[in-house]
Amino acid sequence: MTSGGVGRVTVLSIGEVRLRPHNIAGSGTPMLWWTFTSRRWTEPLPVNVVLIEHDQGWVLWDTGQAPESADAPRTYFPRGFVGAVYARQVDSTLTPGQGLGEQLELAGVPLERLALAAVSHLHYDHAGNVGELAAAGIPVLVSEAEHALLTGRSPHMHGVLAEHLLAAGVRWRPVSFAPSDDPALTDFDGAYDIFGDGALTLLPTPGHTTGSMSLLVRRGGGRDPLLLVGDATYDPSLIDRGVVPDVGDRKRQRETLRRVVALRDRLPGLRVIAGHDPRAAESAA
Ligand SMILES: [Zn+2]
Repeated sequence: MTSGGVGRVTVLSIGEVRLRPHNIAGSGTPMLWWTFTSRRWTEPLPVNVVLIEHDQGWVLWDTGQAPESADAPRTYFPRGFVGAVYARQVDSTLTPGQGLGEQLELAGVPLERLALAAVSHLHYDHAGNVGELAAAGIPVLVSEAEHALLTGRSPHMHGVLAEHLLAAGVRWRPVSFAPSDDPALTDFDGAYDIFGDGALTLLPTPGHTTGSMSLLVRRGGGRDPLLLVGDATYDPSLIDRGVVPDVGDRKRQRETLRRVVALRDRLPGLRVIAGHDPRAAESAA
């Protein structure tokens, strides 16, 4: 496996979110209980997306939140009970200049120059800007299992706002994971090598959502490999303690963390980059 294809890796933040503490470090409390009783918010956390230079083109990992989710939450989020859950669980902000297009521009790679994007999962703060990619004709990779939620029976129950995602006209490229002969990846149920050179590999990391996936970035040149995990954890320092959020499937989240630890043992120096970790930019540098 060669990995000379990866150049620059840049973490950008598409606004911020405040969450409930149970959403970071859970204790096994039922989600609906803390959702409606918690009175504490976390500090504002970044909504990280990662821009990766590969010799076959620029790749975007996750897309961040849409401006409307911060500016007009009452119309962006569903009404009724589901809307009440969002309003209690998350508080989004996105100030002018923090949008995806502007952040990419600032990073020197206008959105139109992307070769493709991949999303860890379909929550609004990770897939919120797929419409912008659709408008520019850029395909979006998503796991097959996550993609199935879009047209499944109750996407809202999985935290997926299908009404926005289906209306966006996205060129989805559903990814299916196949067995890999890469010895570093034996703990995972398959893998998907984006460019066929071992540099950018998608791995199934379910639990937070049914079809959550992560991206392993092997940079070559003596640089530490990165594992971009979306929301498999919010705080990489919790991984070794097996602490998972009180959102999603607890057992599957823990199994995913066990695999991440196993991968780190096989790839010394592996740095875990989480979707809302304030230290992500520093870790990836
Ligand atoms: Zn999420």
